[in-house]
Amino acid sequence: MHDKKFATRAIHAGQNADPVTGATIMPIYATSTYTQEAPGEHRGYEYSRTGNPTRTALEECLASLEGAKYGLAFASGSAATDAVVNLLKQGDHLVSCAEVYGGTFRLFTGVYERWGLELTHVNSSKTEDFRSALTKNTQMVWLESPTNPLLNIYNIKSIADLAHENGALMVVDNTFATPYLQNPLAMGADIVVHSTTKYLNGHSDLIGGAVVTSSLPLYNKMSYFQNAVGAVPSPFDAWLTLRGIKTLQVRMEAHQRGAAKIADQLQSHPMVERVYYPGLEEHPGHQLAGKQMRGWGGMVSFKLKDPSMVDSFFRKLHLFAVAESLGGVESLACHPYTMTHATMPEAKREALGITPNLVRLSVGLEDPADLMAELQKSLE
Ligand SMILES: *Cc1c(COP(=O)(O)O)cnc(C)c1O
Repeated sequence: MHDKKFATRAIHAGQNADPVTGATIMPIYATSTYTQEAPGEHRGYEYSRTGNPTRTALEECLASLEGAKYGLAFASGSAATDAVVNLLKQGDHLVSCAEVYGGTFRLFTGVYERWGLELTHVNSSKTEDFRSALTKNTQMVWLESPTNPLLNIYNIKSIADLAHENGALMVVDNTFATPYLQNPLAMGADIVVHSTTKYLNGHSDLIGGAVVTSSLPLYNKMSYFQNAVGAVPSPFDAWLTLRGIKTLQVRMEAHQRGAAKIADQLQSHPMVERVYYPGLEEHPGHQLAGKQMRGWGGMVSFKLKDPSMVDSFFRKLHLFAVAESLGGVESLACHPYTMTHATMPEAKREALGITPNLVRLSVGLEDPADLMAELQKSLE
């Protein structure tokens, strides 16, 4: 299957016909336990926290899409993040880009710092600034690219090289790009994290996460944490995610067609101060994104000239649901300052540029003309 193209792997990887019934679609194995022939004599499954065939199919499919050897599925992107940070021990130093997902920031600072994690946030997308943040003790470097909500782009390959020179692991949260647009393992990352809640499942009807890697020792450790902590997805959620992934390629193509149109039109709107979209030539990460991604993605952020318009802008939206999250077929609009990034200290938000006039759009699969008409009206 590894030699097949992306769309083929998205539909078939990890999903052979059921050997017992011939079912073409992976069944939902709704079982907690497995009957053994004799004590210890089983067919690879003993208990569903440890392993479940529907989950295995999802794990193999996700690994295949990222070009990884191994995949692990979790109950949420945050649980996947937790399994990765658990690789560190007390006193280890983690260097992270400052503009991380709000929940990742909360996990690093609210949970792991209490257990003795040393943390440095790099408030810049320049590779050189990562070099100066590294210490003898740095064991992990954490990136999101593109970032949330400003869609900054980091040079994954050059930061991975730095991390490795320093003996640290390189982790990339690839949720925004998806494996269709970017494969960080091919650029030197050791581990890739996903919130499958977003584009991978793609229908805003579940919470899930995943980790992929090609390192057997790392896989074994995180598989141990997956079983020990127990934050696993239900067979039903694993099945829904598999179903969502089958259309990932066509969805991403349509998401980015719509997003590019909207970014372009917002840019010339008199009420808009600035548009953030990697596909725009003015975007500071445009060149780099062109090299390390295969498209610009479906997220668009922008700043309103007049901050007092923000409230009425959101109130006038109907097709765009005012909601957190992203990556579903329906369009969402979010106010990062009070929603997704509210847990980040105010000074930090301001320093990053997450200001009260910032709007983030997850462009869905409705007709872009209808979406743009609604944005025009809400900006009046
Ligand atoms: C949503 C998200 C997460 C967290 O995932 P959950 O499934 O909500 O736990 C992590 N990283 C990014 C970039 C996200 O968008």
